[in-house]
Amino acid sequence: MTASRTVIVGAGIVGLSTAYFLAKAGRPVTVLDREPVGEGASCGNAGLLSIGHYPLTRPGVSWRGLKWMFDRNAPLFIRPRPDPSLVSWLWTFHRHCNQPWLDRCMRELCAMGFPTLALFEEMIAAEGIDCDYRRDGWLDVVMDPANLPHAEAEARALVPHGYAYRMLTGDELRRRSPCFAPEVAGAVWYEDSAHCHPADFMRGLAAACTRAGVDLRIPFEAASVLRDRAGRAAGVRGTSGEVVEGSDVVIAAGVWSDGLARDLGLDIPMQGARGYHRQLKGVPELPFTGCVLHETFVAVTPMRDELRLAGTLEIQPVGRPWMRNRLDNLTRGASRYIRGIDRGRTAAEWAGYRPCSSDGMPVVGRVPGTPGLFVGTAHAMMGMTLGPVTGRALAEHVLGRPQSLALPMCDPARYFTNAPPRAVASGTQRRAADPAVPAA
Ligand SMILES: Cc1cc2nc3c(=O)[nH]c(=O)nc-3n(C[C@H](O)[C@H](O)[C@H](O)COP(=O)(O)OP(=O)(O)OC[C@H]3O[C@@H](n4cnc5c(N)ncnc54)[C@H](O)[C@@H]3O)c2cc1C
Repeated sequence: MTASRTVIVGAGIVGLSTAYFLAKAGRPVTVLDREPVGEGASCGNAGLLSIGHYPLTRPGVSWRGLKWMFDRNAPLFIRPRPDPSLVSWLWTFHRHCNQPWLDRCMRELCAMGFPTLALFEEMIAAEGIDCDYRRDGWLDVVMDPANLPHAEAEARALVPHGYAYRMLTGDELRRRSPCFAPEVAGAVWYEDSAHCHPADFMRGLAAACTRAGVDLRIPFEAASVLRDRAGRAAGVRGTSGEVVEGSDVVIAAGVWSDGLARDLGLDIPMQGARGYHRQLKGVPELPFTGCVLHETFVAVTPMRDELRLAGTLEIQPVGRPWMRNRLDNLTRGASRYIRGIDRGRTAAEWAGYRPCSSDGMPVVGRVPGTPGLFVGTAHAMMGMTLGPVTGRALAEHVLGRPQSLALPMCDPARYFTNAPPRAVASGTQRRAADPAVPAA
């Protein structure tokens, strides 16, 4: 075994946060990624650091998903296909869409909220990361007055967990930001949350890691995790055959994590939920904070002098061509709420994957059966927000320190199959680049 060196696969928010906390604790770290920092989900997301966010598994979501299955314009689109892993994922997902499960999830997810923002603020201050971080909450903006009670009920359910909210009428909203359309009925203001420019945060975090001594190897595509004769994680083999040795391995490869973990007995039921963003320049006036538009599910986030529209959930095989109608729906869905969107010029378009487990909860911690192996993935729509607190938890696991926060519902053991791991894992799910062309 190599003298203590942790090898991390994935330079997304989870991988880099883990590397940061390990390096600050004096641990030698190598991070491997096949793509430059700045291209993955941790950079293209909506940038809402929305603490107290609900998981995907909520009562009614699975039925709604089924209803929308054949509608290519619905906010959640599941491409129907005879794939046993999708059928099994959907069935398990459906079984978890109930109130008692949601209540259990929220107890754990809500406990992660304030600590993760404190870590963001610590890292930003200590490393001088310039990422337009603003602790001014986010708005659930409601068009139809009939939907206001439901929006408020969702916010009220967070109060016992220590979260505050404020109701704003349409006029109060427009007094703060006149760009909101006259038809907007009001909003719930989740005041505790924050938002940032995610790619700028990630570039700042990568630079901080490098300063702290992290060896960032890009491009390096991991093919398998290696084990030594005693069965302990011993490094990573790349698709080129190159081996990076280590005393511990952390798999933080987003939606591709299941491919790397499966050969080691960890069978994470994973689907990639693709979303898009369109970044606009020149919108005459931006909302005062980040928003989610209640009826169209579009996230609208001011980032410096630009506006990012992000959203839609597509569950289909990784690598399918973009569905440009869904990208256009972001603009259409936002224009009804915010005036001047049509005057914005497209500065960038992007698509990426949320890693989604079938029970809606992240997978964070030690992998049974292989000492020295850890995993951090499946944060779905909350990965940017929960990245730092996950990174700290993984660093504590690797260092054998007590956990600052117990995360029993995220324990990877729930997916451990007990199958004897192969001596040398045989490969990972290939990633196909998504051609940025309209689907036929
Ligand atoms: C449209 C959209 C909007 C979103 N909005 C928000 C939001 O507002 N707030 C929020 O909290 N979350 C949001 N999310 C979710 C969030 O972006 C993700 O949950 C989070 O980025 C996942 O981080 P990660 O580090 O697990 O994975 P990733 O960011 O996907 O990083 C994984 C990395 O692993 C690398 N990798 C994979 N396999 C290999 C391999 N074999 N070898 C080498 N490298 C490999 C990849 O290249 C990648 O860089 C959004 C997601 C989308 C798609």
